[in-house]
Amino acid sequence: MIPSREVLNGDYKQLMRVDREIHVTQTPYQNLQIFENRTFGRVLALDGVVQTTEADEFIYHEMLAHPPILAHGGVRKVLIIGGGDGGCAEEVLKHDVETVVMVEIDGAVVAAAKAHLAMISNGAFDDPRLSLIIGDGARYMQSMAQSVERFDLIIIDSTDPIGPGVVLFEDAFYTDCQRVLAPGGILVTQNGVPFVQRLQYQTTGATRAKLFRHAGFYFATVPSYCGGPLAFGWASDTLDLAQLDLAQLEAAHDRFGTTLRYYNPLVHLGAFATPNFLRL
Ligand code: SAM
Repeated sequence: MIPSREVLNGDYKQLMRVDREIHVTQTPYQNLQIFENRTFGRVLALDGVVQTTEADEFIYHEMLAHPPILAHGGVRKVLIIGGGDGGCAEEVLKHDVETVVMVEIDGAVVAAAKAHLAMISNGAFDDPRLSLIIGDGARYMQSMAQSVERFDLIIIDSTDPIGPGVVLFEDAFYTDCQRVLAPGGILVTQNGVPFVQRLQYQTTGATRAKLFRHAGFYFATVPSYCGGPLAFGWASDTLDLAQLDLAQLEAAHDRFGTTLRYYNPLVHLGAFATPNFLRL
C-alpha cells in the first residue's frame, strides 16, 4: 500500500502507512480517503491532509467544544461550520444545548463518516437536536447575518485554507460571524499548527483582534496534526476567554459532570498559556 503523504508545507511532510484502504473517492470538492493505520486507527484525509483519526480525535474535538461552552456557562444554540466527521457535534451534544446547526459543504464526507467513522461521531448524527445542512459555510453565514437568527457559539471546524476552506479564513467571513453571534457569544476556529502555518496564524489572529473586543488563541497538541501544537482561534465581544479563574472552571466542570478523555479544568487553564514566540 502506498503511504498516505501529507504535504501541508513545501518543506515538510508527514507519512502514514496505509495498512488497509477503507474508502477513497473524488467528491465534487476534494479527494476523500479513509484508511487504517496501526497507530492511528481509522484516518480521514481530504486532499491528502489528515483531518481526524480514531486514535487522537478526542483531543481535538474536546478542546474545540468544551473550553468555550464551559467558559460561557449558558450556551443554547450552536453553529458548526464544517465538522463533517461528526466529532465536534458529538462533544457539543454532551451539553444541555438546545440546537446544533452543522453546515458542511461536502455531503460525501458526512456519508463516508456515517459509514466508516461511526466511532468518531458516536451517534451525533441521530441526535434530534442536530440539524445538518449541506452547503457552503461562508454563504450560510452571509445569509444568517441578514436574518435574526443568532448563535451563542460558532465553531469553525474546517479544513485548512485550501480548496473550499479558503473562504472560512477571510475577513468578510469573520465579519459575518460577528454579526451572527448572540450577545455574549463566542467564535472558535481550527487555526492550524502555527509552527508550520505561521502566516495563517498571524493573519487570522490579527483580523479577529481588529474586529472583536477580545480575541486570542489556545493550544493543544494533536499528534496527527504534524508540526507542533495546534492553535484554536477564539473571539468574543463580551467574554475574555483568556481571563481564567480555576475555581470557576472547576465549578463549571462539576456542573457538567461528564468525565472526558482529554479536557479537565487545569488542562483548560494551561491551554491558554501562549509561548512567547506565538504572542502576536
Ligand atoms: N479536524 C479537521 C482539521 O482540523 O483540519 C477538520 C475536520 S472536518 C472533516 C473539515 C470539514 O470542513 C470537511 O468535511 C470539509 O468538507 C469542510 N469544509 C471545507 N470548506 C467548507 C466550507 N466552505 N463550508 C462548509 N464546510 C467546509
